[in-house]
Amino acid sequence: MTWFSRRMTSNNVDDHLLASLRPEALAPATSGIVELFNLGRGRGDVIPLWVGEGDLPTPTFAREAARRSLDLGETFYSPQRGLPELRTAIARYMNRHYGRADMAGPRFAAEQFSVTVGGMHALQIALRLVAGPDTEVIVPTPAWPNFAGALSAAGAEPIEVPLTFTNVDGAAAWLLDHDRLASAIGPKTRAIVVNSPANPTGWTASRADLERLLELARLHGLWIVADEIYGRLVFDGPRAPSFHDVMEPDDRVLFVQTLSKNWAMTGLRVGWIEAPPSLGPVIENLIQYSTSGVPAPIQRAAIAALDDGERFLEEQLARMAASRQILCDGLAAMEGVRFARPGASFYLFCAFDGHDDGRDLAVRLLDEARVGVAPGTAFGAGAEPYVRICFARDPRRIAEAVERIRAWLAR
Ligand code: PLP
Repeated sequence: MTWFSRRMTSNNVDDHLLASLRPEALAPATSGIVELFNLGRGRGDVIPLWVGEGDLPTPTFAREAARRSLDLGETFYSPQRGLPELRTAIARYMNRHYGRADMAGPRFAAEQFSVTVGGMHALQIALRLVAGPDTEVIVPTPAWPNFAGALSAAGAEPIEVPLTFTNVDGAAAWLLDHDRLASAIGPKTRAIVVNSPANPTGWTASRADLERLLELARLHGLWIVADEIYGRLVFDGPRAPSFHDVMEPDDRVLFVQTLSKNWAMTGLRVGWIEAPPSLGPVIENLIQYSTSGVPAPIQRAAIAALDDGERFLEEQLARMAASRQILCDGLAAMEGVRFARPGASFYLFCAFDGHDDGRDLAVRLLDEARVGVAPGTAFGAGAEPYVRICFARDPRRIAEAVERIRAWLAR
């Protein structure tokens, strides 16, 4: 297992206490992203591109919706699965962007959605529904470390299936090897996590990829946990292909979603899980016994974002596209830097010739170039030499980061 750069050891947790804890609690280790972030915390003059969030605050109209709610005294418990108005707003949003023209009525209804404390909580619930001790879940890598972390904390085993870094029509690209993925399925496999567009590579499943994955899941009776949170952050076209485009109503797919990235709401913590409506009561219990719901003012901000947030999303995307261009052009002009140009998400995953250890590379970029990036070693098999650069920032800061990296390489 290559997931974790630092396991919980007796160096950092008292031995006696450690022995008394559940093994699942100790299974996940500190994320390599957090480790780098902690190393650089408080250092002046570092350009921080390590964490998966932008530099814009939540848009004013969404903040005002939360403020109005507080002023009205919406400070009581709210329904476990979310305010009915928010669940209806999610259904409206989904019908606008993921509806099917060939269907007579609206495709999505509030019963399919449960509001969660961000995408991470939606993922927690999805995994709790399908994975636990003595089960395995397939995770294509490089992957966001929280998939493995959440699986380990549930007592389940993440099974890594590395994507292939290759050349398609003269351009570098990450590809999913379906035969390799199929051969990772065993008697304990319960689910496949499909994060498309992917953090950290920007890999985006084609419609054909999604069809093959769904076929495989049907054949083996597996669930698909579809994390499509970057599905609207695409640079050509209105959105990425989705399992919604290829699935039938009785397919076993759980969707993880969040408002964090599209509407700069990472700190407000609101997202949703989409599941077959019959699972509603089960999910309601899991929410009751974990967070007991999301604060109403935050849900009001989410309604505003879903109903009125398209302009903000477009503006944010245009800014990201400018930053992506500067970053890709800058890195392409440097000798010995390899990466696949991301068509979606706001990450660029790159490796530098002569540097085989992404953690070491990230530490050197922090210490010597004063650019904070996330180490590839945090993202599982096949990711070790790489670093992840988040470009959801002011294009001028990205240009400055490119210049610092260029000067560092040229020393
Ligand atoms: N899924 C992926 C792939 C992510 O990258 C993230 C956050 O970085 C999340 C889910 C979780 O989002 P949230 O901040 O809403 O918990």
